Amino acid sequence: MGIVTSVPRQTKSAVTLSVIVPYYNEQEVLPELHSRLTAVLEQLPETSEIIYVDDGSTDHSLQLVNRFTSSQSSIQSVALSRNFGKESAMSAGLEQSSGLAVILIDADLQDPPELIPDMLAKWREGYDVVNMQRAERLGETWFKRQSAAAFYRLLNSMVKSDIPENVGDFRLLAREVVDHINRLPERNRYMKGIFAWPGFRQATIQFQRDARFCGETKWNYFKLIGLAVDGITSFSIRPLRIATVLGGLIAFAAFVYGVIIVSKTLMFGDPVTGYPSMMVVQLALGGIQLLSIGVLGEYIGRIFIETKQRPLYLIQSINEKQPQQKLQAVETRA
Ligand code: UDP
Ligand code: MG
Repeated sequence: MGIVTSVPRQTKSAVTLSVIVPYYNEQEVLPELHSRLTAVLEQLPETSEIIYVDDGSTDHSLQLVNRFTSSQSSIQSVALSRNFGKESAMSAGLEQSSGLAVILIDADLQDPPELIPDMLAKWREGYDVVNMQRAERLGETWFKRQSAAAFYRLLNSMVKSDIPENVGDFRLLAREVVDHINRLPERNRYMKGIFAWPGFRQATIQFQRDARFCGETKWNYFKLIGLAVDGITSFSIRPLRIATVLGGLIAFAAFVYGVIIVSKTLMFGDPVTGYPSMMVVQLALGGIQLLSIGVLGEYIGRIFIETKQRPLYLIQSINEKQPQQKLQAVETRA
């Protein structure tokens, strides 16, 4: 009856592509990153926005970013109120983003911005998640590579959703996936797991991960171990089950051993011997008990943090800039 029923769904998307750059004290690389990134985005037919998320940098990174301009893309400079960690900074970027496709990229140029067109091509083919898999880890020590490989094996043996190996946070997510991720209530943001959790149609592109352009990695081994424990305990309860099974096995073995000792004593009589074996059993049991309590503690700690329902991050300021071309167009019209 002349009433249009199939109005295209109104999305708040003003742009097609959002590029999110979380950064923490990266003043040496940011200018180089910005020029390479904008050079790539200028070549794209899609409209784009760059969202820089300052994770409480203590150097001049934020002032630098606030001066960045681009002829094609709008720029959002979001500043968190302190260093909340990369996972939170990425969450902030995801929530600020409005693009139909969203790309997360490190500030240190380890993830080459020049791959963005390839990622978009996959997205246009219909994939919802484009994982960028490192073919080679340049500039990383043998030990780091080995420990990373071991970690992925352990993680994937414990977690149900498939967490792709050697895929960092560099990836493309379709709007739908971003919306789902933004709705996840948990405080503990283990992003590798969170990105894999929604599923959807996934594509993987292999790439050479460059060495850091300059500056130093913000990760040390303590932080990495923490991240590994986070990864496992926030996506799997298998460690608890392992503790249970281990307890059961040991109890059973103890029972059998007890029967043996009692019958041996009854048959042969037994003067007090076996101090070494007793010590070994005591220590082994004590160790396993402490470990299991530690595992329990990890989960209780997680429950504690989740129940507090604190926000993931606090935003101190947002500075938005339209593409310069558009601004000029408005001025001439006025
Ligand atoms: N980063 C961040 N907050 C932090 C630590 C790091 O936003 O607390 C950013 C950092 O500036 C970079 C990205 O996360 O853009 C990756 O960090 P880094 O290069 O130190 O990690 P790696 O590449 O060694 O895994
Ligand atoms: Mg890096």
